[in-house]
Amino acid sequence: MSLPVEIIDGIVEEVLLSQSRAFSSIAALSVVSRQLRYISLRAYFSRLTVSKLTRAGRILDIPNCCSWIRHLSTTMQIIEKRSLPVSKMKLWSLELTCESVSVFSLAASILLVFPHLPVTTLVSLKLRSLPRITQLLLKEIARRCANLRELELSVIERLSTDCCWACFEESSSGVKHSPVGVDASSCDTTTARDLATLYGRCLQPLANLKRLSIGVFLSSPVVLKKHIEDHSDALARQQQGATGLGCRPYTPTKCVQCWETHGLSTREDELLATMRLAQNLKSLEWVRWSSWFSYWNLPLQVTATANEDDKRDKMNEQERVFGLTKDDVDAQWATFEIERREKRIKVWRRTS
Ligand SMILES: [Zn+2]
Ligand SMILES: [Zn+2]
Repeated sequence: MSLPVEIIDGIVEEVLLSQSRAFSSIAALSVVSRQLRYISLRAYFSRLTVSKLTRAGRILDIPNCCSWIRHLSTTMQIIEKRSLPVSKMKLWSLELTCESVSVFSLAASILLVFPHLPVTTLVSLKLRSLPRITQLLLKEIARRCANLRELELSVIERLSTDCCWACFEESSSGVKHSPVGVDASSCDTTTARDLATLYGRCLQPLANLKRLSIGVFLSSPVVLKKHIEDHSDALARQQQGATGLGCRPYTPTKCVQCWETHGLSTREDELLATMRLAQNLKSLEWVRWSSWFSYWNLPLQVTATANEDDKRDKMNEQERVFGLTKDDVDAQWATFEIERREKRIKVWRRTS
């Protein structure tokens, strides 16, 4: 007696998941019969990550492979070079890493890539490591990917704390990570609410959009600038008795001074900006912004000079004001849920 294909599909998927989708997990299944080989390969290739141009070429050598891919994770560069025929795929979700794209080449990349996306089937689109989020990008997405239910656009992956303060500063200089405050070139002031209104209007054609993740900070770019310029040597002095050079940087999330100056106002701006988005995007249920002030995560070294009582008082005060504890993770995301009832919109911050 042979099992229905749906049940075999389910078994193969379980086998794949049990071993982190490694090909070795389905190798034995794929030699049992022609039918099992087909089902195993189809399941394996339904979710694919292609980060190198050479691998893209090898994928094309496998018969039928492109018709099996439903979830593709790759780079903007690979799509730009047409190394994978994405327009012929029936993709449900697409994740693109945009590290190779500069501020100057972003518009060209958008215009090159978007006409080739499989727009009718695509419900989830994620663009990470962008140099900035522009109106052209938002409008092009809204115009072409009408069925999107989930959208993630993010620049913060380009900020790096892996090396030293100088590298942290350099990584921040090439990206528009905080597109609010005064624009030096035009002298225009953009508030977090203006920005959310702009994003909401650009994305308005996306009538089914439920989840929106925007990886920029709603605090002023001055927060990071001042943090690097003025707060960078506090920890370094304790660690090395010297300047911040060669010392591993920490973000405003872990900085007492930044929290005291900007924490509360940024959290309020994030809430109001989410409300603006919810007013413009009628199906939205979930929103996420990059945030330095989402979770309280103060490194104890910074306050090591304070006596224990002072330190405890400070912690209690922060917990009382922000409803957070020092054990919360160093997340750079503020997440909000939206509820609509009788034409009223309710927005609240998720704390877990
Ligand atoms: Zn460095
Ligand atoms: Zn700081």
